Amino acid sequence: MNALKADADFWNGLVEITPEKASKGLIQAAHTPQQYKRVEGAFESGAEYLDPDTVVSMHTFDAALYAAGGVCRAVDAVMTGEANSAFVPVRPPGHHATGEKPMGFCLFNNIAVGARYAQNNYKEIERVAIIDWDVHHGNGTQGIFYDDPTVFFFSMHQYPWYPGTGAKGETGFGRGLGYTLNAPIKANTTGANQKAVFEGMLEDISSKFKPDLIMISAGFDGHLTDPLGQLRLEDEDYVSMTRSLREWADEVCGGRIVSALEGGYNLNTLGETVKRHIAALGE
Ligand SMILES: [Zn+2]
Repeated sequence: MNALKADADFWNGLVEITPEKASKGLIQAAHTPQQYKRVEGAFESGAEYLDPDTVVSMHTFDAALYAAGGVCRAVDAVMTGEANSAFVPVRPPGHHATGEKPMGFCLFNNIAVGARYAQNNYKEIERVAIIDWDVHHGNGTQGIFYDDPTVFFFSMHQYPWYPGTGAKGETGFGRGLGYTLNAPIKANTTGANQKAVFEGMLEDISSKFKPDLIMISAGFDGHLTDPLGQLRLEDEDYVSMTRSLREWADEVCGGRIVSALEGGYNLNTLGETVKRHIAALGE
């Protein structure tokens, strides 16, 4: 937020929207009631961790509700024409949270809650494409929509790497077969090569799936400077991937894109990368 606000011209060109907490019903469209209860009661029950990476404080539950609610609010913004596209700079991230459990810094799956919200609240939205370029596989999102042909999930990530899933052979199940696509990328692949994989896969997806809304699980931990990831994407690469999605959205869904922050752990570079991503969304 500091990086975005530091550039007054840039900041003044954006519309700032205040999120609301996601209701229990919205969360439970993507998660079991048991999971909701577990996160809700975690701090009071004395839990310090929900998994080895996922810390709990007295504000965790609220932060998680605001994060998921922020994505829903962004869906409203692009559906009502308040904005053409929206970026949701939230933490905690969401894409590792499965339908049943929090994991990997993620409490609720923000992007999945938002996708369900869009489908359940807007009759124009039947099909959603979720594009996940975080350095880690979006196992939670994949699991939630694995047998669902209305949500196409594409993840490009370092592999093998945390959380261990995301092999090429994972392509969906039952009616959802063919609606999950994974692009595992080897550590130290050049940005140019990774971007070429992305473009090729996107061409493939767009030839067979016409979304009414495009959502991005925008993790920036595949950045060259990131301390957790070992991929080599640079700001220019994120800009060009954003532009490709922008073009696709203009073609099929009136330009509607909701992008939500996932990972990205180099705080010296993350702000600038996000800023470039937002600028490209708004082109
Ligand atoms: Zn990540």
